[in-house]
Amino acid sequence: MKLIFLGAPGAGKGTHAKAVSEKLDIPTISTGNIIREAIKQETMAGLKARAFVEKGRLVPDGIVIEMLKERLSANDCENGYILDGFPRNTAQAEALDSMGVVIDRVLDLEVEDHVIEERLTGRRVCESCGASYHVVYNPSLKGDHCAECGGRLITRPDDAPEVVKDRLRVYHEQTEPLKGYYKALGKLFVAVGADEVSETTRRVFEALEAKAP
Ligand code: AMP
Repeated sequence: MKLIFLGAPGAGKGTHAKAVSEKLDIPTISTGNIIREAIKQETMAGLKARAFVEKGRLVPDGIVIEMLKERLSANDCENGYILDGFPRNTAQAEALDSMGVVIDRVLDLEVEDHVIEERLTGRRVCESCGASYHVVYNPSLKGDHCAECGGRLITRPDDAPEVVKDRLRVYHEQTEPLKGYYKALGKLFVAVGADEVSETTRRVFEALEAKAP
């Protein structure tokens, strides 16, 4: 099963992709995580990507597509995968097509912008293991440190309020048109985010199991 999770940054794609990954036993591939790791390792691609990420802009297609191609060639992708954060524009969707990747379903997770802004600006992530918290809705039991591994909790530079606004603008301008792209192919399935994470998870599974149009 090859799935794409579409939705604004902070809509909860990562959280729900994790639940689906576990159930279907396929990996989640997050281009955001791949790019952050490349920046941390100071690879050539990472150095080129850094300024774009910090400003909330899309990293140039050529760089991201190469990173994705390499990741998809790994053995654990043989039985399928979930793409979280890719494609982010029509050129990237077309690149997937020309790689011969046939996507089964695209799950569009719908969350309103004001909810996203509140979520992202209050998000804290663990520097060491990447676990995610929220200062109000999901604080760590260990205060400024990760409840799972004890690592330091930080605010991602691109979760700063003005960068979040830019990321949402980029999403609406460049990524949202992909809904039409996949709808035309009969592959788009929508789940509307709820207040409760468990309810959203239920809606995600419902959308993934729904009869095709
Ligand atoms: P994310 O963790 O998915 O919100 O991604 C964080 C940042 O990484 C984005 O704001 C972009 O700067 C960059 N990024 C992630 N995926 C892509 C992509 N498919 N194309 C271009 N830039 C990306």
